[in-house]
Amino acid sequence: MKEESPKYVLAVDIGGTKMDIAFINQYGNLLEPAQRLLVPFDEQGVAKPDAILDLLEPYVNRAKKEFGSFPGIGLSICGNIDTETGDAVLVANLYWRNVPFGRMTWERFGVPNYPATDVRMALMAEVLWGKAKGLKNVAWMTLGTGYGGYLFLDGKLYDGAHGFAGNLGHNIYDERTGELCGCGQKGCFESFVAGPAIASQGQLAVEQGESKILKHLSENDRLLVTTKMVFQAESLGDQASIEIIEEVVRKLGISLSSMVNLLDLEMIVLGGSVWKGSPEFIQCVDRRVRDFLMTEEAKRDLKIATESFPNSALVGAAADVFLHTGLLKL
Ligand SMILES: [Zn+2]
Repeated sequence: MKEESPKYVLAVDIGGTKMDIAFINQYGNLLEPAQRLLVPFDEQGVAKPDAILDLLEPYVNRAKKEFGSFPGIGLSICGNIDTETGDAVLVANLYWRNVPFGRMTWERFGVPNYPATDVRMALMAEVLWGKAKGLKNVAWMTLGTGYGGYLFLDGKLYDGAHGFAGNLGHNIYDERTGELCGCGQKGCFESFVAGPAIASQGQLAVEQGESKILKHLSENDRLLVTTKMVFQAESLGDQASIEIIEEVVRKLGISLSSMVNLLDLEMIVLGGSVWKGSPEFIQCVDRRVRDFLMTEEAKRDLKIATESFPNSALVGAAADVFLHTGLLKL
């Protein structure tokens, strides 16, 4: 079968501090390496939608000029997005509530655009072009500043009643001992396992004099412990850090195995920054999840994979455009 000539769309992934931009075709290939820009914020710490559109304008103009037909813009955003209206309903990191970003993009450029939450976009990239290609029951989970994901069940994206399915990180682990979470509840899994939780547990170890190694590693940063430092200290044999990571792995094991028991998944794809640079961490999570699974079939068949692309959400933003225009099908 003859391959169709590549058609490019503009893909954008707006994160909590940075945004990635690329032209991507219907085979999931980038025209050139993705560009990374800083998200513009005002003095109150609110991301400025008009300034974001200013940054996108040269790319849109280039696409209009260079590509005979330009099917649209895929907009991956790090929060809850109403895919029907294109409104950013709640994006904590950008301090956005009910920002009509889809409509603003249309008014500025006159080009069809498809905003959706980044975890949904990432899952689409994995299912269409990544490690989950051909599978029918898959979860994408991001473990970074937060912990949450999206579901692909029986060969379809599963949005739930309000488009909020996949918020696994806000299931409660222990409301009696847990910290207050950004969602308003106490003791969510996210408040134990996400990056900031790991860093603050490391911080506590330094303050209580339990970790000389972490103290040493954070000395040049005014004793501010980061997630990366905890992993570093763990690899150096620091007992406090080993215990922190072991607990994170245990709780992830409980959380992910519950999801697999409930949904009988074939694959979980893990994205996010927390585990990057620590392949042992993924192996430990994999073992723990298997320990807790109910059926022999799940223990045998479940695969826990890592993100297929440097930024799956960015690639998925392009997939979303092609799915909307009918050029690709799930
Ligand atoms: Zn929560």
